Amino acid sequence: MSPAKRLKRLPPWRDLPSVGSLLESAELSSYRERAPHEVLAEAARQAIAAARVSLRARGGSRKEAPSREAIVRDAARRVESELLPSPRPVINATGIVIHTNLGRSVLSEEAIAAVVETARRYTNLELDLERGARGSRMTHVEPILTGLLGAEAALVVNNNAAAMLLALNTFALGKEAVVSRGQLVEIGGSFRIPEILERAGAVLREVGTTNKTRLRDYERAIGPRTGLLLRVHPSNFAMVGFTEEVTREALVSLARKKRVPLLEDIGSGALIDFSRWGLPAEPVAREAIEQGVSVVCFSGDKLLGGPQAGILAGKRGLIASLRKNPMARALRADKLTLAALVATLRLYRDPAKLSAAVPTLRMLGEPQAAVRERANRLLHSLPADRASQSRAEVVACTTEVGGGAMPLARVPSYALALRPARGKLEDLARSLRTGPDPVIGRIESGRLLLDLRTVDRDELEKLARAIVRALEEEP
Ligand SMILES: *Cc1c(COP(=O)(O)O)cnc(C)c1O
Repeated sequence: MSPAKRLKRLPPWRDLPSVGSLLESAELSSYRERAPHEVLAEAARQAIAAARVSLRARGGSRKEAPSREAIVRDAARRVESELLPSPRPVINATGIVIHTNLGRSVLSEEAIAAVVETARRYTNLELDLERGARGSRMTHVEPILTGLLGAEAALVVNNNAAAMLLALNTFALGKEAVVSRGQLVEIGGSFRIPEILERAGAVLREVGTTNKTRLRDYERAIGPRTGLLLRVHPSNFAMVGFTEEVTREALVSLARKKRVPLLEDIGSGALIDFSRWGLPAEPVAREAIEQGVSVVCFSGDKLLGGPQAGILAGKRGLIASLRKNPMARALRADKLTLAALVATLRLYRDPAKLSAAVPTLRMLGEPQAAVRERANRLLHSLPADRASQSRAEVVACTTEVGGGAMPLARVPSYALALRPARGKLEDLARSLRTGPDPVIGRIESGRLLLDLRTVDRDELEKLARAIVRALEEEP
């Protein structure tokens, strides 16, 4: 066989460039300052591998082999993505303030500053400066929590799921936890009350029915094996119609009479009454404690607007047993969390400044007119041809609170609605998500809505640029 013939028979991917030659390209060389050699080499390897795959997919015809330039560009794109922070910032144009997939709460400037300082320097996290002896990390957060909640004692763990696990394991290990059937809910991300209960070593004692549970159902279930009564905020779920649940007051007196602790998972952790903004009243932690619930638990990053954390508060003796459980060490909150939480809670001491300072509260409470003003501003910042290409207009809409809080509440809002001519809504949504400043919107009745309630004024320019860029990608 002639050498020329033999060459033709070799698989065409033999012609793909080598890693070494890609690394020498001007484009990849330009990253040498910013990216370590290993990152560049890996990007080159992956780009070559991808080219090989696409070549195979097209039947291996030499004519269709990706060009060297295309492979270099692909490698550069891979390097770029390695240089981006991960997780990376996105523009939340869903209007959902507590969006679990987008990181739930955005922190206040005060909390951010506290995190940065705590991260940068050594701190007295577990050192009593006065005595020069070992201290507890809870001393930083417990006094402000007990003050705000009117509780005797408090404890902070990693998140509310951890708080539940710890409380159930402490009070009901090998014993029964009495719960209404109507409260055996699943709360996003596969957190199911019956399952967490089982993993905590407690035995589930269901009482009542799905829609109706009465006090005598609880009374009948309580006995020598009872470890605790559990009351759960049904979170993202609401029961309507022919329903009945036992009031908190009635459960408190029953728990007292039977001398068993009453644990209430209030879920989203409202520290203030949201009805002032026309939103439904969520269980407020302080009220639950005042009414005599033995221990309450809730999240730090839902309606409270702080970092991910699980807060437990209530009777001194019970909180002390939680602390003594060896599991508490495994579930404990990290120093950055504690710093952010303390800074957030301090803002709650000044109700006049609170709703401006905590982004979650600011966004939920912002008047409609202000949201509409931002929507109009965004619309007018789009070049006229792009605006008409996408039939952009400002529309009134409603959104949900998110985070399993206030499931039935609709928050009125305003959005920029885009209706690309060719009806390629999914493509436009994808272009917006995958651009340099990812934008997450929602598709609703044939339009892509970019809801301005969750978009900060400072993000408007970026958002406009992202829209223009995504529309340019339109065929
Ligand atoms: C959200 C929620 C949880 C879980 O809280 P995390 O902080 O996400 O772990 C538990 N219970 C209720 C009622 C909730 O709403």
